[in-house]
Formats: sequence, C-alpha cells, structure tokens
Amino acid sequence: MTSALQKDAPDGAFPFDNSYARLPPNFFVRQAPSQAAEPRLIKLNEELAAELRLDVELLKRDGEAIFSGNLLPDGADPLAMAYAGHQFGGFVPLLGDGRAILLGEVIDRNGKRRDIQLKGAGQTPFSRRGDGRAALGPVLREYIVSEAMYALGVPATRALAAVTTGQPVYREEVLPGAVFTRVAASHIRVGTFQFFAARGDAEAIKALADYVIERHYPELKDAENPYLALYREVCERQAALIARWLHVGFIHGVMNTDNMTISGETIDFGPCAFMDSYDPATVFSSIDHQGRYAYANQPGIGQWNLARLGETLLPLFDADQEKALELANEVIKLYGERFQAHWLSGMRRKIGVVSEEDGDLELIQSLLALMQAGQADFTLAFRRLSALAGNDAAEAAFTASFREPEACGEWLGRWRERLSRDPQSPAGRAEAMRKVNPAFIPRNHRIEQAILAATEDGDFSLFEALLTVLAKPYDDQPALAAYMEPPQPDERVLQTFCGT
Ligand code: AMP
Ligand code: MG
Repeated sequence: MTSALQKDAPDGAFPFDNSYARLPPNFFVRQAPSQAAEPRLIKLNEELAAELRLDVELLKRDGEAIFSGNLLPDGADPLAMAYAGHQFGGFVPLLGDGRAILLGEVIDRNGKRRDIQLKGAGQTPFSRRGDGRAALGPVLREYIVSEAMYALGVPATRALAAVTTGQPVYREEVLPGAVFTRVAASHIRVGTFQFFAARGDAEAIKALADYVIERHYPELKDAENPYLALYREVCERQAALIARWLHVGFIHGVMNTDNMTISGETIDFGPCAFMDSYDPATVFSSIDHQGRYAYANQPGIGQWNLARLGETLLPLFDADQEKALELANEVIKLYGERFQAHWLSGMRRKIGVVSEEDGDLELIQSLLALMQAGQADFTLAFRRLSALAGNDAAEAAFTASFREPEACGEWLGRWRERLSRDPQSPAGRAEAMRKVNPAFIPRNHRIEQAILAATEDGDFSLFEALLTVLAKPYDDQPALAAYMEPPQPDERVLQTFCGT
C-alpha cells in the first residue's frame, strides 16, 4: 500500500487493472483523493466486495481509511474523468468529475470489468466552485436506492461502502461529510462523447467508441458497421432500462446527458424518488421547475439524450454526412418502438398475463387511469392485484387502494375476462405477479427518516433496517409490513434535493 498515512496493509487487496487510465491523456486528469480528518466506516457491502474479489477482512479492518481516500490501495491510479453534458436542455461543454475520483477497475468474479469510484473525496480540476465533498444524507440516499434497484432487478450502479469523514460540509446548513464508494460497469456517459464532440476531436471520439465497444459491447466488433451497431445497442439498453424504471415507479430526477450511462446502468441518484400514489406528472426534484424529468417524461427525455449521443457519432456512421444522419434517425426512431415493446411486455406481466392480445394496451392504460383518478398507491395497488389474482377474497384489499373502491368494478370484470383467456393457473399467476410487483420500494419518507436519524443523532439503525427490508423487495416479510405503507399525509415528502 502507498499512502500519505503509510499505513501497512497486505499487497494486492484490490486486483486492479486500470484500462481507462491507459486512454489518451485528454480523457482524464490524474488526481489523488483528499485526506479525511476522522473517517469512520458506516457500511461495507461485504457481498459486493467478495463479488469484486476484494479482501473483505482487510476492508473490515482498514475500510475507513481506504474508502475515505486516506489510504490508497496498491495498484490504484486515481483520476477524474472529463465529460460535458446537457443540463436541463442547456449544453455545458466542461463538467467532469468534480467530486468523484475513479480509484481504478477490477475484474469481478464473473469476468466483468467494474469501476470503483469515491464520491465526495475532495476537489479535482473539474470542481469549479464546488468543494468536491458530499454530505451524509445524499450518500445514504444513494446507498439505499442503488441497493434497492439491484434487488428489484433494475440495472444500476452499486454501493460498496459509505464512510463519514469527521469533517463538516457547508450547504444551506452545516452537515456531516461523507464519502460514497460506487461500483459501475463504467462511468462513461453520453456526456463523455459530448466532451470530445464539443472540441471537434474526431480522433478521441473514435478512440472512446472503440474502447466502449471493447468493454461493453465486444460482440459488436465484427458487425458490418460497429459504430452504428453500438448506437443501436446503447439505445436498446436505455429503452429497456427506462421501461424498468416506469414499471417500479422510479423517477430519476436529473436525466441530464451527463447522468446517462453508455453501459445501460442507472447512475447518479441525486434527487431521485419512487412515486407513491400514481400520477404520471410526478416530479420531486427541487430544481426541476418545468417538470422536464417527470415520471412519464422519462422515455421521451431518454430519446432526446440519445439523439445527442447520435450527433457525436455521426462521422463514424458514414463518411457521407447525409447518409450518416439518415442512419442515426432510423436508430432513434427504433428506440421509440423498443421502449414501447419493453414497457408493454413488463406491464403485461404486472397485470398477470403471459399471452398477447391487441386489447392489452388499452386494459393497462385504463387501470393506470383508474389509479390516477383514485389516487391509488402505485406499488401497493399492483401488489394487491397480485394477491387478487390468486384469491378472490383479496378483492376488498385491492379496491381499498382507491379513493372510490366501487370505481374498480368495471375494470376488474374486464381483467378477469382477459385472464380467462390466458394460460396460467391462478396460483401460478399470483406467484409470477409477486415477482414483478414489489411489496417494498425505497419510499421517500422512509429514506428521509433514516437520513434524519443518521445526520442528527448518528443513529444508523433506520438506515440498516431499510437496507434489510429492501434486499428482498418481492418477499412478503410480514414482520416488516409497515415498510410497505405509503406515507401518512404529514410524512409525505414533496421535494428532493441534489447531492450537492
Ligand atoms: P451531478 O449533480 O452529480 O450530476 O453533478 C453535476 C456536475 O457538478 C458534475 O460535473 C459534478 O462533478 C459537479 N459537482 C456536483 N457537486 C459538486 C461538489 N460538491 N463539488 C464539486 N463538483 C461538484
Ligand atoms: Mg452527475
């Protein structure tokens, strides 16, 4: 180990193999983390550490030093990545990791290359006026939501560790500082391509695209037009991802192009939140005044962001720019169809049908309209519908999710009729529905309670309890049933804030 603290630890605790650091020098700036005054390990994800082939015993002992940035493991090559991005529609040519430092990459147990990044470990050349630090609240939120997404089966970056630094950070108030250790398939974003496009650096765009193909889409190397195939696959993964968000009621909150990965993982959980009662216009983010990133706008914004990606790749699609534009337009049009297909097939599973009929879309839409009019809790209503599929006696529990329970009768009649033409037993259907309709989501009011207890009283028990219940979102967990409940009116969280 090499470190300013020169603490002794065995070599090779992290099996680093840092490929991004071997890219041209304009892709990043080498930057060591800052020292934390009095780091304390809040949480170590031992299961993930083992998956990454890290030395778990060592991390238990030296985790606070390593995950605060105080102790650099052997083989780390810390750097801040360069990127640009459209933020709320406006282009910012220079963003980059202002409060994140990539320690390096490891090859996990499944042969997959994963980034390990410290978020909140001090300033970098991209910090502009920011302090490069993170407050404990956003760190806990990102930890909880990342792991909840994983358990829900939604591709997302993962949480490896959280430490407090023992130093205050200054926001609107003085808050305890913390560092979050994030694991990602990579941190390459739409904005990474935009960074080079804004500088007219065609060579760098090609190098980045080649790197991305090698790392994330190796099967495309032999495609007739690998760059066009890459674009199509990125669009496909984003279409699938955003459909998954909608299926679980997730609202990202800041879908700027710098917060959209090329790998297809959800990234940068800032003011994100899960919807309680169903309303497609739901927005939580305090900075999203126009509702640009509202729940139901996400598929369209995804398409807008991907169009920006396509623009950066045009020269690689075809030497003839008109032809290149035509090719890009075909792909971006296809995204719309692919999103719709992913969304519809997931929604079919949510209402418990495995066969396909033309009327399904209308049946699903009328349920959603009913839920909106009846202010039904999105998660609870689908979970209770799952129970109803296996047991007629569960009807009252389902309709109780709606303001006017009687309004459900007509829809339930049509649903049952549809089920009569679907080849599943009631018990089998209920079981299948429970696997796609979670009982537990990271409800905003629970996250806020956990953050408050940790920040004000140093009490992490609510944080731990949430992690436990959210690790098995599709199980009933009767002893923890209270976590299924939507917020009481006085518990409702109306706004969420960015990590800054
Ligand atoms: P994000 O809100 O994580 O999407 O960040 C948007 C941009 O602001 C990125 O370039 C970040 O690195 C930068 N940024 C956010 N918070 C800070 C901070 N506290 N210090 C320095 N840079 C920051
Ligand atoms: Mg970001």
